[in-house]
Amino acid sequence: SIAVIGAGLSGLTHALYLARGLLNNDEKHRIVVYDSADRVGGWVKSDRIKPVGMEDDEGALLEAGPRSIRMADLGGLSTTELIATLDLGGEVITVPKTAESAYRRMIKYDGHFHVLPHDQWSLFQTSFKPSHIFQKADFGDILNALNIGERKPIRSRFPDETVEGFFTRLLAPKNKDGSLKDENSPTPAIVEYLASAMFHGIYAADVSQLSMRAVLPQVYHPALTLFQDKKSWLPWPFNIRLTPYYLLGRQGEEWAKVENFKQGERLMLRKYMIDRLGEQITKMVAESSVLSFKNGLQTLTDAIANECRQRGVEFRLNSKIDSIHVQEQNGKAVIRSEGGKKEVFNKVTSSLPSKALQGLLKDTKLPHLAANPSTTVCVVNFAIPAKYKIRLPPAFGYLIPRASAKEGDNPFGHLGTVFDSEAVPGQDSYTKLTMMFGGPYWKPALAIEIASIVLEPHLQDSGQDRSIIDNPDIIKRISVQKDCIPTYTVGHMERMYELHQALKKTENAPLSVLGASYTGVSLNDCILHARRTAMITINS
Ligand SMILES: Cc1cc2nc3c(=O)[nH]c(=O)nc-3n(C[C@H](O)[C@H](O)[C@H](O)COP(=O)(O)OP(=O)(O)OC[C@H]3O[C@@H](n4cnc5c(N)ncnc54)[C@H](O)[C@@H]3O)c2cc1C
Repeated sequence: SIAVIGAGLSGLTHALYLARGLLNNDEKHRIVVYDSADRVGGWVKSDRIKPVGMEDDEGALLEAGPRSIRMADLGGLSTTELIATLDLGGEVITVPKTAESAYRRMIKYDGHFHVLPHDQWSLFQTSFKPSHIFQKADFGDILNALNIGERKPIRSRFPDETVEGFFTRLLAPKNKDGSLKDENSPTPAIVEYLASAMFHGIYAADVSQLSMRAVLPQVYHPALTLFQDKKSWLPWPFNIRLTPYYLLGRQGEEWAKVENFKQGERLMLRKYMIDRLGEQITKMVAESSVLSFKNGLQTLTDAIANECRQRGVEFRLNSKIDSIHVQEQNGKAVIRSEGGKKEVFNKVTSSLPSKALQGLLKDTKLPHLAANPSTTVCVVNFAIPAKYKIRLPPAFGYLIPRASAKEGDNPFGHLGTVFDSEAVPGQDSYTKLTMMFGGPYWKPALAIEIASIVLEPHLQDSGQDRSIIDNPDIIKRISVQKDCIPTYTVGHMERMYELHQALKKTENAPLSVLGASYTGVSLNDCILHARRTAMITINS
């Protein structure tokens, strides 16, 4: 019997792979998923909203949380396989790498958009194509696709540092012996204007907090560059392809030894996935930038939950777990829901934020669960009917660098804006934008009024004035996502290594953990981790 706590993408994916492997109508196994909310999906939440009084309208598809899945790398392949086995191919929207919205990413600074460098040739091939080839693929049983050993966090002999610290040290003027000319070198412009904006977009956090090793391993471990052949819109040193692994001399070679092993494992898995998925779909993944669904990303979490139910997984919604206790005498785990109801399981998997898990573990000591802070983001969606003819630049959107706040030019803590109708076209006919505020600048006073001020330039460019925002057919929604993204601070990977070791101890055997707190915040990371953990449980 297995309890999965949390029905976000991580918990659901985990339950699905467990169910596919264990529930064979023989009543030998039991899987129960708990969530404190009255719905499944966690941060994944898509709604089709109709303007007031327009019941016949198709409505605008709004995402409160994540809006697209990156297709890159092993994570993209694993997600693709999940989508295909759920038979969701007909619902998928893929955006090719050649679409302008895929490669045009901008930074807004000093009132102007600055387009980040990208491959010039791709400018000539902008197009958008929905994906058909999912339906054609014949996958068969590929449950064991990722069942190639356990993934161990690797202990590095080199100290971690912040993203800001790494680049300041790397780019600062040096003496002939490699020592810094000035120990207090100023933060380089590339961090203030570029890196800070990028990490506002991914982690809603500041580069002075984030761990280089956790969030930019490809640059931190330059050895990985040996295996990269991807094109990137980023200049060196952010472009993995262009980062010479020997950059740091002997230190780089040492890193190469440690990381070759890890990268070797990734290559092996990649080859395995390609063998299972077939050439055609692998090519589609390689040619696509991002993926979503006609009715938003919740299509994925809903479909996973449906298959789980069909296979006999039990769901307990509105069930907040308030304690987990491992019984010494029989090695089983007892979970207690709010209201005092207790149930005993052989295995309990938590997909909760690690800090929340810490509060539930009564006698069990797992290290570092509360080490990382998390960030709060205010998400404002706008959907403007086509009749207003609002033109957005053909781009994914723009990010705001830290420099703006330092110069007093970002009073609302604006992190960036996604041009949804450009980034994921084909969900409806509305012009859509999502603005994100908060993160390191969070203050509760942020609201839709602020967003409408930020929206103003787009309206003006299209010959409209701000007063149209009050029109009832313009859809606006504000949601505050409290503690929604963990901030991987310096030492995160080392701490994960120690947590991994602690979980392997016999007394902790009934417990496992997964979710955004541990091995990556993207949806791909969540799926990959949830699936691996399920495979380990099935094998055990
Ligand atoms: C605004 C925003 C935008 C994002 N954009 C993207 C994007 O475009 N692409 C991308 O790849 N990633 C994106 N992410 C990241 C990604 O969405 C998350 O990392 C991912 O959804 C986390 O899923 P999870 O299942 O690990 O956690 P969650 O979704 O947090 O699920 C945890 C579940 O546990 C439940 N729970 C909590 N406490 C208890 C308890 N005591 N008892 C029972 N249940 C409990 C919660 O109700 C929740 O359903 C974004 C995140 C946010 C917040």
